[in-house]
Amino acid sequence: MSDFDYDLFVIGAGSGGVRASRIAASHGAKVAVAEEYRVGGTCVIRGCVPKKLLVYGAHFAEDLDDAAMFGWDVPTKRFDWQVLRDNVLAEVSRIEGAYGDTLSSHHVTILPHRATLLGPNAVRLDDGRTITAGKILIATGARPALPNIPGVEHAITSNEVFHLERMPKRVVIVGGGYIANEFAGVFHQFGAHVTIVNRSDVILRGYDEQIVDRLVKISLAKGIDFRFNSTFDAIERQEDGSLLCRMNGCDDIPADEVVFAIGRQPNTEGLGLEGVGVKLGERGEVIVDHQYRTSVPSIFAVGDVTDRVQLTPVAIREGHAFADTQFGGKPCTVDYDNIPSAVFSHPPIGAVGLTESEAKNKLGVIRTYTSDFRPMKNVLAGRNERSLYKLVVEEGSDRVVGIHMISPDAPEILQAAAIAVKAGLTKADFDATIALHPSMAEELVLMR
Ligand code: NDP
Repeated sequence: MSDFDYDLFVIGAGSGGVRASRIAASHGAKVAVAEEYRVGGTCVIRGCVPKKLLVYGAHFAEDLDDAAMFGWDVPTKRFDWQVLRDNVLAEVSRIEGAYGDTLSSHHVTILPHRATLLGPNAVRLDDGRTITAGKILIATGARPALPNIPGVEHAITSNEVFHLERMPKRVVIVGGGYIANEFAGVFHQFGAHVTIVNRSDVILRGYDEQIVDRLVKISLAKGIDFRFNSTFDAIERQEDGSLLCRMNGCDDIPADEVVFAIGRQPNTEGLGLEGVGVKLGERGEVIVDHQYRTSVPSIFAVGDVTDRVQLTPVAIREGHAFADTQFGGKPCTVDYDNIPSAVFSHPPIGAVGLTESEAKNKLGVIRTYTSDFRPMKNVLAGRNERSLYKLVVEEGSDRVVGIHMISPDAPEILQAAAIAVKAGLTKADFDATIALHPSMAEELVLMR
């Protein structure tokens, strides 16, 4: 019999916390998870899932335009934001329920409360109860960062976009990262005029420059505006209810919504972490070792709260590795090399491995291969958008060390291609693979 109420107490039922809870329970641990908001966390409730559904919705705008060249007469094209919003929110609730069911079926106790640390083996719930556990896992995630500028209270973040009462006519999106570029595409396709404001002239830092340039070019051609090297002095509410962005580096910008997407901040405040001796980093992130252990041996952390790789599948892997190591007798760590990623912009980007400039710096002599093509569907539709694929190859070994794509369905194609990079396959292996015709993906094996 354990001296504690639970073997594992998890704070936060998001991607990392849910996976860790379920796997630890399947190894026989007695597990409870505290969640102050909704089971599912950022990914399910206000991130990947509802965002992807909006991206699907947004695609119809161009598909309906293109339909005419394929013989379809679509008499009216009217978009109803409220219908999509409510359907997306209902789907989010359905998935939230499924997550809860999974936990319950694994006999994980879900406590709908905020939990704070009382000691190395104790937490207090916001209803006053104290609970003890052999191990505690912090999986509280992160939240959108906001700058300290006058009028910031008039702005929103991605969290609020999913609940907007109506589709704004003019949207200013601040930041040049994943969220800015994904929501720029979504708002634009739903008919809003979008301006992306970025503090430098580099967007999507870390992605291959040529691919990013192609996205900027396509976005500009669609009518999305960019203001580079620009920052905010203030946001003012006007008498007619609209907003005015007072800018530094460009002219002031009128807007109906201002959306900040300038990165995410670990959720560590008010958890009692410092009180029990858990060390935090400069951004407030929980510092962990290779087995997710904090500076307090019984307390662990996974996912965005550790501010390492802020991606759902990484948090899930970390939660799984933690549970296998601590409760399954199977010590394991996560391999962070060659993590595939995607930006669900219009068109989307998919990438894995080294960019061209990273490979030059790291490996010295490299070769690159590109395919710059107009997808068959775009040609018939009269749509001028071109796709770009790039392979980065290490000269000496012939290994493909990076794949970078901007193209319809790039994330779907990239997931499979990432296996080849992870497995260390060579350019000769790609060349030896017969093309699957006609497809866009065949370009991956046809670059010479
Ligand atoms: P990102 O880290 O992707 O981008 C942040 C952007 O904001 C950068 O352009 C950055 O500029 C800029 N920025 C940072 N601080 C400031 C500041 N103080 N003032 C003005 N601009 C600033 O953040 P996001 O918010 O877009 O997304 C958060 C995280 O969520 C991502 O890092 C990603 O891990 C995850 N995510 C993943 C998605 C996916 O997998 N498809 C989708 C959405 C989110 P600079 O480059 O100069 O630092």
